[in-house]
Amino acid sequence: MTGSPVWHPFTQHGLGEDIPLIARGDGAVLHGADGRQWIDAISSWWVTTHGHAHPRIMAAIREQSEKLDQIIFAGWTHEPAEELARGLIEITPEPLTRVFFSDSGSTAVEVALKMALGYWHNRKQDRHKIIVMEHSYHGDTIGAMSVGARGVFNRPYAPLLFDVTSVPFPAAGAEQATLDALDAACRDGAAAFIVEPLVLGAGGMLMYSPALLAQMAAICAVHNVLFIADEVMTGWGRTGTMLACDQAGVVPDILCLSKGLTGGSVPLAVTLAREKIFAAHLSQDRADCFFHSSSYTANPIACAAANANLAIWRDEPVQARIDALAAAQAEHLAAIAGNPLVTQTRRCGTIAAFDLADKADGYLSNWAVHIGAWGRANGVLIRPLGNTVYVMPPYCITPDQLGDVYRVVRESLDRS
Ligand code: PLP
Repeated sequence: MTGSPVWHPFTQHGLGEDIPLIARGDGAVLHGADGRQWIDAISSWWVTTHGHAHPRIMAAIREQSEKLDQIIFAGWTHEPAEELARGLIEITPEPLTRVFFSDSGSTAVEVALKMALGYWHNRKQDRHKIIVMEHSYHGDTIGAMSVGARGVFNRPYAPLLFDVTSVPFPAAGAEQATLDALDAACRDGAAAFIVEPLVLGAGGMLMYSPALLAQMAAICAVHNVLFIADEVMTGWGRTGTMLACDQAGVVPDILCLSKGLTGGSVPLAVTLAREKIFAAHLSQDRADCFFHSSSYTANPIACAAANANLAIWRDEPVQARIDALAAAQAEHLAAIAGNPLVTQTRRCGTIAAFDLADKADGYLSNWAVHIGAWGRANGVLIRPLGNTVYVMPPYCITPDQLGDVYRVVRESLDRS
């Protein structure tokens, strides 16, 4: 073996791409160990909301690390988790009353699926089917992959994935087909429908309207099918509001949050549930309890970071930053739309995306590699999803920095 022993995620080491060594981050900028700098145009995989190393979050982590580092969470508790659970209940819709902790977006989804199945099992109803949306992504653990799109990412593991019922993505003009398919699937007595509200992230930043989200939730409610909102990516202001569901007036039965939960500083996730889901697991019989845990459930340091994030939302003009970024994104998108290589420009809140015209190579497109490499060589961390280029920076990005991101994107297109 030569070089680093590190095996990176979603990285083909055989291509020998440059893997920069990052030493420091502040605001929207990452600083390399060799002195190079990059503007983080993708919020380090969609997690960084207020910027890297936000002083209040870093201080909260430091303070908590000197008090309590870790404690088993089965049958024990601690103040950072209690405070965080109360804070989350306060900022999410009223019917969500229970907070279950885990460590990543994927585990938040696994927990949601298990809660849904546990709910029906404990109510002695034979409902197992999960309804999903075409092109969805919910994570890389086996359950999360099962409810996500099948393709090159999970082909080797296909024999392990469970069957689901998929409804088509509601492309503009074809929304009724989605609603009809969902209605039909719900009539079969499904356990739950899991969906990414308003934006399907890894599926290619595919966007649909709040009105459609509301209609889908209404169909689930009519058929008593649990509605699971996976807001792992869309939560924490990404789509312009705290939750994407807020724009549709939708209250899910189960809500998954992660990524921006700690401002993107340390790993933590939560799955919130309506009281009826919790109540279905409540009895004098231990066999009815919710059987899920991981060693670091509700780690106190991570909870302290999340509490600092909530405080930032309370005390700083986060919404104004989001609104300003959304407006700037709209302007940049309008400007780049004239490029003959650009098609399907779209935006939802702070997320801007477009596709590359006539470059239909799918996720393994060389374009993603080309644009990513050009960005790496020219001071921008950008990582297209196949032929979909997107910009999703931290909310603290300055107008000049955002301008630099689009300049570098334009240059990479010009060199094609
Ligand atoms: N759900 C959605 C909508 C996501 O976008 C992601 C990750 O991008 C996940 C779940 C999985 O989150 P994690 O990578 O933290 O496991």
